[in-house]
Amino acid sequence: MKNLIELDKRHFIHPTSSIQQQQEKGAKLIVEKGEGIYLTDINGSVFIDAMSSLWNVNIGHGRNELAEAAADQMKKLAYSSAFSTFSHEPAIKLAAKIASLAPEDLNAVFFTSGGSESNDSAVKLVRHYWKIQGHPQRRKIVALKRGYHGVAAASTSVTGIPEFWDMAGHLMNDFLHADTPYWEGTEKAIASLRSVIEEEGAENIAAFFAEPVQGAGGVLIPPSNYFKEVRNLCNEYGILFVADEVITGFGRTGKFFGIENWGVTPDLITFAKGVTSGYIPMGGVIVSDSIHNVLKDKSKGTLFHGFTYSGHPTAAAVALRNIDIIEKEGLVANAKAMGAYLLEGFKKIKEQLKIVGDVRAIGLLGAVELVQDPANNKRFSAKLQVASKVVEALHERGVICRAVTYENTDIICFSPPLIMDQLQIDSMVEKLYDAILSVQKQLI
Ligand code: PLP
Repeated sequence: MKNLIELDKRHFIHPTSSIQQQQEKGAKLIVEKGEGIYLTDINGSVFIDAMSSLWNVNIGHGRNELAEAAADQMKKLAYSSAFSTFSHEPAIKLAAKIASLAPEDLNAVFFTSGGSESNDSAVKLVRHYWKIQGHPQRRKIVALKRGYHGVAAASTSVTGIPEFWDMAGHLMNDFLHADTPYWEGTEKAIASLRSVIEEEGAENIAAFFAEPVQGAGGVLIPPSNYFKEVRNLCNEYGILFVADEVITGFGRTGKFFGIENWGVTPDLITFAKGVTSGYIPMGGVIVSDSIHNVLKDKSKGTLFHGFTYSGHPTAAAVALRNIDIIEKEGLVANAKAMGAYLLEGFKKIKEQLKIVGDVRAIGLLGAVELVQDPANNKRFSAKLQVASKVVEALHERGVICRAVTYENTDIICFSPPLIMDQLQIDSMVEKLYDAILSVQKQLI
């Protein structure tokens, strides 16, 4: 154990982590195995994985079927390229399967290895789409404040959380952010989007990107009419609408794709995470037939965009098996039912504890906000680090979840595996109550 911690400090630069904390305290947790909704560390301590790790292990940990799908495919054809129109059965079948699940006419898939690559690809694809139709100036991308779309070159700038731009410079040119509907409400948020479009000139805008539910921003569920208005606005100005379903896809919100909750069809969908439940890296971009038709008709020569692992056969075989499990085990319906049950649990906690403000969930994607005064939503001073303290208290009680504290908010996020049952939710909610109570006692 000690040796592992020392090696970790010496050699492992962790993604989205405090290097200072790692050096001072060592790795927070060294996980050894996963089974269902549980993770076990190298000391044998067991935790509920209330975030499905990074919102991605939708079918839960330790499913042999996925290991077998990977092993079978690896023995037959572990890897082969999809460049230069080479192809193979797993990627063909997966593209067709995803097309059958995606809304309406979203029928063609470009594969990547994860969410950031998917959003970078979508930025390039929408710019290419406009360019080959004679509108090369349509380059600007509009997204939402507090949106999270990844950390690659373009996706960092699609992201609406300034901390991610500041890390190595600043926001790139041609990326803009409108107000988020969760706090502003539909009318103000749409007015903000309209004013960004009009200021920049609709003729210069390629696409609007948004998560159906803003995940890393703090599980911000939009008002029910927001995306209908977005769709209308995009139609009015001829702007493409890209739904980033990296978290919300593959059942998370109680629908196969999150945007279906609002009866709206985007022009493109980006996905990753739940497509393989995180068992192997994979992501992609789904485009509508009308975009695909423009690419087919007007994209001459090579499409100069592709990753070595686009359509990786082993990842595709795992994805197919994963989707099969989601369908056969009714996990989308389970997410919906258990999400409603989880929300009831959150509401009971809110009734009992003074520092609980808004609680929300859509499918198994939920959040609990901590506030000094629920009557006016007044937040605690950021210095008190209330959400981080609750996450720590939960950790001590055997639940792993995540605090979102940007811009002085104290939000605890939940995104547990879609296989959760009522007893497991009861146990998680009980521990949440205990953890918040212990922090509340320190505060008031
Ligand atoms: N988009 C959304 C909505 C995400 O939540 C994430 C990751 O959390 C990404 C994109 C980036 O995905 P990745 O970390 O696989 O690059």
